Amino acid sequence: MESTILQTIPSALATGDILLELSYLVSALLFVFGLKKLSHPETARNGNLWAAAGMLLAMITTALLHKNADGETIKLTNLLVIVLAILVGAVVGWIMSHRVKMTAMPQLVSLFNATGGAASALVGLLEYPNAVAGNYGSIAVTVLGLVIGAVAFSGSIIAYGKLDGKVKDLRLSALTYINLLMLVAVVVVSVLLVISTQPPSDMMWAIWVLFAIALVYGVLFVMPIGGADMPVVISLLNALTGIAATMAGFIYQNQAMILGGIFVGAAGMILTLLMCKAMNRSLIKVIIGNFGGGGVGVDKEVGEMKEISASDASILLNYSQKVVIIPGYGLAVAQAQHIVHELDQLLESKGVDVRYAIHPVAGRMPGHMNVLLAEADVPYDKLVEMDDINPDMPNVDVAVVIGANDVVNPAASEDPSSPIFGMPIIGAHFAKNVIVLKRGAGKGYAGIENHLFYNEKTRMYYGNAKDSLQKLVAEIKNM
Ligand code: NDP
Repeated sequence: MESTILQTIPSALATGDILLELSYLVSALLFVFGLKKLSHPETARNGNLWAAAGMLLAMITTALLHKNADGETIKLTNLLVIVLAILVGAVVGWIMSHRVKMTAMPQLVSLFNATGGAASALVGLLEYPNAVAGNYGSIAVTVLGLVIGAVAFSGSIIAYGKLDGKVKDLRLSALTYINLLMLVAVVVVSVLLVISTQPPSDMMWAIWVLFAIALVYGVLFVMPIGGADMPVVISLLNALTGIAATMAGFIYQNQAMILGGIFVGAAGMILTLLMCKAMNRSLIKVIIGNFGGGGVGVDKEVGEMKEISASDASILLNYSQKVVIIPGYGLAVAQAQHIVHELDQLLESKGVDVRYAIHPVAGRMPGHMNVLLAEADVPYDKLVEMDDINPDMPNVDVAVVIGANDVVNPAASEDPSSPIFGMPIIGAHFAKNVIVLKRGAGKGYAGIENHLFYNEKTRMYYGNAKDSLQKLVAEIKNM
C-alpha cells in the first residue's frame, strides 16, 4: 500500500510539468479577466496590466520549465540570450510607446502587429527543417504559421505606411486577378509541402519560395484597399497575427501561446466582422473588391460654404436644448478631447442636453474616439453609438462636427458613384443646425468632397479644433 502511494508521488520532473500546466492555467485566467476588463474604459488600464501579468508568468515558467521533445529544459546559455532579447525588445517598446503621439497610435499598433506576424513567420522558417516528413499535422501548422505570419507582417507594414500617409493606394483592376493568382500559388505550394515525402531539410528552397510569395501577397493584398475600408483591413491583419501565433503555439505544444493566439485571433475576427457591419461591406468584397479611396465620386462643389464666428456659434449652442457632438480624426489630431469635455460640461451647466455620437470607424483605429474621450474623463453614458443616435438626429438643435468628415458624408447614402457609398454615417445633415469645426478645405481619409459642408443648415467654423473650442468656451463663459 505504502509503496503504491510512494509510486504516485510525482517525481521532480513531473512536479515541474504540473507547475508549468498550472501556470498556463493561471495565465489563461489572467488573459480572460484582463480581456473582460478591457471592454470598459474605466477598467481597461487594469485589464491591460492583468493580461500583461499573465504573459509575464507564461514567459517565465516557459523559460524555466518547458521541455523540448528530448525532455530537456532550456540551456542556461540560451536562457541568457532569451533574457537579453526580451530586455532589448522591452526597452525599444517602452521608448516607442512613450515617445509616440496619440495621433500616431494607429501606426504604432500596426507596427506591433507586424512584429507579431514576423515572429510567427520566423518560428515557421526555423522549425520547418526540424519537422518529420509524413507528420502532416505538424508540417501543416508550421506552413500555416509561416504563411499567415508573413502576410500579417508585410500587410501591416503597408497598413502602417498608409495610416502614416507614406504609402498611396495602388488601384489597378489587374491587381484583383494577380492577388487571386498569388493566393492560389500560396495554397498550392503549401499543400505540396505538407504532402511531400522528402525530408523537410531538403525542401528548404520551397519554404523560402513560399515565404517570398506570402510576403508579396501581404503587400499586394493591402495596396489597393483604401479610403474608408482600412479599418476592416487593420482588424483583419490583427486577427491573422493571432492565428499565426496560435500555429506557432502548436509547433511548440505551448498552451499559453496557443491560448494567447486564439484570444487575439478571435478578438480580431470579431472586430473585423463588426467593422464590416459598420461599413456595410462583406469581408470578401473588401479583400478582393478594390473598394474605397481613390478620391473619385462626388468631387464637384455645390453652392458655397458659409462661415460662422465664435460668438455666433456660442450663441447658437448656448440657446439650444439638444446638442450632439460628432468627433472625428481631427479631434485626435488637435488633441482637443479635454477642451471638448469642458465645453460639454459648460453647456450642461446651462441646461443644454449634450451627447456624443460615436461612429465605429471615426478616427484611425477601431475604438479611437472612445479611447480619446475616455482619456478626458467624458462619462461613458454620454457616448451614443451611431445606430442609437441616428433616429433622434432630426430632434437635435445643433450637430457639432469636430474634425469629422467621411463619417458624416451624406454621399455615403445618396451617391451610388461615391467610393464610400453604402457605408452608414451619422446623420448630422438631419439636425436642425450643423456647425463644422475644421481648419480649411481639407478632405477626409477617403479623399472626397463632402456636400454636408455646402448644406443650407451648415456653418463652417474654421481653425484648429482645440483653438476653436477654447474660443467657444471663453465666449459661452462670458454669456
Ligand atoms: P476624416 O479623416 O474623414 O476627416 C478628418 C477631418 O478632420 C479632415 O477633413 C480635416 O479637415 C479635419 N482636421 C484635421 N486636423 C484637424 C485639426 N487639427 N483641427 C480641426 N480639424 C482637423 O475623419 P473621420 O473621423 O470622419 O473618418 C475616419 C476615416 O478614416 C474614415 O474614412 C475611416 O474609414 C478611415 N479609417 C478609419 C480607421 C479606423 O479604424 N477607425 C482606420 C483607417 C482609416 P481640415 O484639413 O480642413 O482641417
